[in-house]
Amino acid sequence: MSNAILVVGGGFAGITAAIEAAELGHDVFIVEKSPWLGGRVAQLNKYFPKLCPPSCGLEIQFQRIRKNPRIKFFTQAEITALSGCKSDYTVKIRLTPRRTAPHNVDFSLLASSLTGETDNEFDFGLSRRKGLYKSMPFAFPGRYVLDAKTLSKSDVARVAGVRFLEAAEEPREIELNVGAVVVATGWKPYDVARLTNLGAGAIKNCISNMQMERLASAGGPTGGRIVRPSDNRTPNSVAFVQCAGSRDQNHLNYCSYICCMATLKQCLYLVEQNPNVKITVYYIDLRAPGRYVNMLAKVRAEPNVSFVKGKVADAWQAAGDRVTLMVEDAVRGEKLTLHYDLAVLATGMQPSLAGENPPLPLPMDEDGFIAGGEEAGIFAAGCAHMPLDVTRSAQSGTAAALKAVQTVKGR
Ligand code: SF4
Repeated sequence: MSNAILVVGGGFAGITAAIEAAELGHDVFIVEKSPWLGGRVAQLNKYFPKLCPPSCGLEIQFQRIRKNPRIKFFTQAEITALSGCKSDYTVKIRLTPRRTAPHNVDFSLLASSLTGETDNEFDFGLSRRKGLYKSMPFAFPGRYVLDAKTLSKSDVARVAGVRFLEAAEEPREIELNVGAVVVATGWKPYDVARLTNLGAGAIKNCISNMQMERLASAGGPTGGRIVRPSDNRTPNSVAFVQCAGSRDQNHLNYCSYICCMATLKQCLYLVEQNPNVKITVYYIDLRAPGRYVNMLAKVRAEPNVSFVKGKVADAWQAAGDRVTLMVEDAVRGEKLTLHYDLAVLATGMQPSLAGENPPLPLPMDEDGFIAGGEEAGIFAAGCAHMPLDVTRSAQSGTAAALKAVQTVKGR
């Protein structure tokens, strides 16, 4: 029997759940797949409701974790097995070596001198990273990762024997005993390669909304300048393609909830940077729930932003690395062929567990969202359960933490 709670996923919902449970007196273990906590929020430029940069809310949460000895977290960690029953689970966790010592050492000079590179997953391929890296300035933990696969031959020689690097560190497996589990495994952007009518990710200046967040972020590949990937020029005409892969039975058969709001926010990023930009948003429906309707009104009032109700049926690359869109205007009943400097696909939210086979006894619906498990003391939080914005994810993390606490207290 254990009073401890396992939280799978260290994004906003997961860390909120962990903090709430720990502050109620429970030992909590966070297991996070990536090298740092913060999840998708850490990749955003700004987030709702206040349009703060991610460091704002995350720093507060990280501080609460630092100060709470009841919370232990494991990064680059994955669950390999869960056995037992409610109140008495044994969980096995595989730890991928970080290969840097547990100190916040600044390796930036050494990292920049390395020659091996790979696509930077944190920037969705808009930049390259080295074999020794830290993806964001406010990373928590603040430790670098030594990625042996990306080191060139000369890099291997350069890092050998460097103090605080442990190139020979091996993977390990640990075992924990917990009474309840919160699953906050979050979401992934829908894969644009599947959107064959919209260029399948092969049109140079057709990016996803998450790539737009990285371009707009001061910590991103362009230092916050929104430019065309093909030539680093500021775009003067931009189209947003709503519901790219959502509300479509061939892709995600539901509304992803956040992508209309993301587009409104990104219209403001563009207008702030270039007052001459012309933006067109192509939509089927615009979803601005609750108070967000004020944001929709604000963006509608922007003279450089137009909204066209119509489906973008096709996209292809045009001369000058422009993007051509074929649009079915639903109001005028016309087919339009239009050209833009940049197109942004408002891609939807897919649960991270979709298509995976997690070693947890989790009922999932046909889309990969968790749909049950509570009778076993396993509680879904955040976007593992349904598409949510950051505020609602945090609320759902709190709710899951309280259910987990009741489970281990009431056994
Ligand atoms: Fe489409 Fe908007 Fe729903 Fe996203 S939030 S799926 S863009 S209607």
